[in-house]
Amino acid sequence: MLTNLQTRDVETLIHPYTNLASFREAGPLVLENGKGVWVYDTDGKAYIEGMAGLWCTSLGYSNEELVETAREQMAKLPFTHIFGGKSHDPAIELAEKLKEIAPMPVSKVLFGASGSDANDTQVKLMWYYNNAIGRPQKKKIIARIKGYHGVTVASASLTGLPANHTDFDLPIKNILHTSCPHYYRFGKDGETEEEFATRCADELEELILREGPETVAAFIAEPVGGAGGVTTPPAGYYEKIQKVLDKYDVLFIADEVITGFGRLGTMFGSEAMGMRPDTMSCAKAITSAYFPVSAVMIPEKIYAAMVDESRKIGTFGHGNTYAGHPVGMALGVKTIEIYQRDNIIGHVQSLLPGFWKHLDTLRQHPLVGEVRGKGLVAGIELVADKATKRAFDAKKTVGAKATSLCQEEGLIVRNLADTVAVCPPLIIKQDEVDEMFAKLTRALDRLEDHVRQAGLR
Ligand code: PMP
Repeated sequence: MLTNLQTRDVETLIHPYTNLASFREAGPLVLENGKGVWVYDTDGKAYIEGMAGLWCTSLGYSNEELVETAREQMAKLPFTHIFGGKSHDPAIELAEKLKEIAPMPVSKVLFGASGSDANDTQVKLMWYYNNAIGRPQKKKIIARIKGYHGVTVASASLTGLPANHTDFDLPIKNILHTSCPHYYRFGKDGETEEEFATRCADELEELILREGPETVAAFIAEPVGGAGGVTTPPAGYYEKIQKVLDKYDVLFIADEVITGFGRLGTMFGSEAMGMRPDTMSCAKAITSAYFPVSAVMIPEKIYAAMVDESRKIGTFGHGNTYAGHPVGMALGVKTIEIYQRDNIIGHVQSLLPGFWKHLDTLRQHPLVGEVRGKGLVAGIELVADKATKRAFDAKKTVGAKATSLCQEEGLIVRNLADTVAVCPPLIIKQDEVDEMFAKLTRALDRLEDHVRQAGLR
């Protein structure tokens, strides 16, 4: 029986990433407020937000300094744009800060409002750059199967998941996909992880050669895959990939939308994974998700080409109304200040032994086929048969059942098919980590009973 609020929701809202058919019966979980790592629904029931919202509320809920920063900026200058030569202090300060902490040389920062628009901008910039420097045929961008880069026309094309392509007439031309570096699912019998990493790089090279290196502009990757199922590449993978990119003059775009700002125990995921990106997309934790902000970090050679092009054709014809929104910029500055002042990365590192000890214990659970991830993000893949890695029938929606049992236990997680993702706010404390895994374990034990009783194996 749906409550009044739930009924009004079902009759009015389209929810992203939701089965719109079954949702009509289930209705939404309506949340009302939050504090620290906890959120509360309209009945006052408490949940640990084990997904930091959507991998983003790194400083947790209702952080008073962030609330005050937003209030002050709202009162002072709630909006001004940065088109056509306008600017404001917080935008300048945030761009300076991002340049300072970026793991590679950055010339300029281009702000937006979502991870999707950042990656759309990346695609457009690769095309713009190659046109500007007289290589109009070098346009193709290679992403990876199971990679996640967003939902706009170009970024959904980069995303390597069927749900983002089917019926949407995507991917668009000039976007290609190469292998997903997920050994558990894509490694061959008898192949070592090292051999698998070599094969992934070889397959990238074969694709580039098949298409013609003179047509391939860039390769995009998340340091550790997120929404495609939390996929961690094997050791040495990026080193091998980088060699291929260097050989064929293909630029490397790091999608740091989830991994940026401490998630993997380093400021950026590229550092944790030994990547050498040319350019980077960030969003989410830039403001701890308190305001929609994204940033594309542009290297000098692309910026120089953009300036040359402006000399020839005039205005740089890109950017949206909310690019550099003063409230978002002020929040970005404050958020990064807190990360540095409170040594959030040191805090994350101190949590990792305890966090991964719990995950190691979960590896023994009868439903768990693989536990993967890095830093403070993990994916727990549920399987019908541990020995053979046989997956459950997708129609049985075992992953969704896991999420709903966690919710009953007072824990919010997210299932990506049958992988349960865990990605708590970075400010979580050790006793809250313990409580989170206690809830998760209870839910998985209940799920095991359900699977047995319903004969789902
Ligand atoms: N890239 C990555 C790696 C992401 O995880 C996401 C969102 N989960 C996006 C891009 C898209 O960001 P947004 O939802 O803000 O458009």
